[in-house]
Amino acid sequence: MKSENQCPVCGKVQLDKVFDVLDFRGSNESFSLLRCNECSFVLTSPRPLDNELGKYYPKSTYVSHNEKPTGVFDRIYFQVQKANLKDKLKKILRHSKTGALLDYGCGSGSFLGFMQQNGWKVEGVELSKEAAEIARKRTDSAIWSPDEFEIQPNKYDVISLWHVLEHLPDFERVVEKLKASLKPGGVLLIAVPNHKSYDAHYFGKNWAAWDVPIHLWHFNREVMMQLAKNWNMNFEETLPMPFDAFYVSMLSAQNKKKKLWFLKGALRGLISNVKAKSNKEASSLIYILKKVV
Ligand SMILES: [Zn+2]
Repeated sequence: MKSENQCPVCGKVQLDKVFDVLDFRGSNESFSLLRCNECSFVLTSPRPLDNELGKYYPKSTYVSHNEKPTGVFDRIYFQVQKANLKDKLKKILRHSKTGALLDYGCGSGSFLGFMQQNGWKVEGVELSKEAAEIARKRTDSAIWSPDEFEIQPNKYDVISLWHVLEHLPDFERVVEKLKASLKPGGVLLIAVPNHKSYDAHYFGKNWAAWDVPIHLWHFNREVMMQLAKNWNMNFEETLPMPFDAFYVSMLSAQNKKKKLWFLKGALRGLISNVKAKSNKEASSLIYILKKVV
């Protein structure tokens, strides 16, 4: 385990404890959330070492890597994914009409397959060998492991990371590689949970998107603006992920062991989405960063 004494975003050393959170995925270990006094970045502490991280990913519940979902909850999520894919495409079309797409952390390639059907040239990066193999069969495209992936200079119009950045121990090094692989004017799309959302405040320690310790970092708008500056990229806009509000709220209600968690979670998800329409602090945010031309 690694304990933090320095903020990776701004380098300052004053980190204050927010609270302790349980690993609800099964280890039952407790982890602290630390907030940087200077830039408000929140990080999980201690962080498992790279070689310890794997054991915290319970395979059977990690839905994005599952081709055939099992539990009721997974099955609903799988159905919602279809609608979610259309929503993702719509949001990408705001910035790029078509072209070459790299999905970093592509899982079994459902997003890549969907984009391919819509005329995009697709490639992916995936850590899980089994998921990568499914993605390869599905798209007949290059799917690299993170270690194999090398800079593809100025190749992509869009590079997406759907709920990936918060999992990466070396996220800044990865973004540097990805930025170099974007065409000038290309967009980096980073989707991450937003702990400034209504559902994060409502559920507190039980908020499912803290997801310690596999979520190592917890981003917000101010932090992402700072990072965009550090990376010399233009901060274009943020977009909400309305499906995530429901998913995360239902899981959170389950963590809280609420009766009728399904309904109570759905209600909180709905409230979160309504509030996000005015305050723009959705449960999960998509950050659109553009490579300077
Ligand atoms: Zn900081």
